[in-house]
Amino acid sequence: MKFSFKAVWNNKCPQCRAGDLYKSPFQFSDPLAMYDKCSNCQLDYNPEPGFYFGAMIISYAISSWMLLLPALLLVFKFDWSVNQAMIFALFLAAITYFKILRGSRALYLHLMIKYDKSSRNSDNSASKYDKSIF
Ligand SMILES: [Zn+2]
Repeated sequence: MKFSFKAVWNNKCPQCRAGDLYKSPFQFSDPLAMYDKCSNCQLDYNPEPGFYFGAMIISYAISSWMLLLPALLLVFKFDWSVNQAMIFALFLAAITYFKILRGSRALYLHLMIKYDKSSRNSDNSASKYDKSIF
């Protein structure tokens, strides 16, 4: 099944795209508070210890390019000083911090777990048995 950027952006379960990944309301003290399992298809959001270390690489790649490219553009194209570009980069990092933090985990989970259309309907008992066996 096709990859869904909408499901990643909205932090939905990668398997059914219906259940939420993160607890709400948002808590600044614990921005990565996730549910243990999907409320719709019972997918385990922590498949193994240290699973989300891979999400740190995704977070690093997204944030570094997202901050570097505008800073380079401002300095070399629009003749901003380096200090002005750094202030802009810090501002951009501050306003996108939590979205990238959560989004990289969601993206990593979506890259590792395939979408299963049959899991969308939680009454489908056959798909539940398949998952418990394998
Ligand atoms: Zn689910």
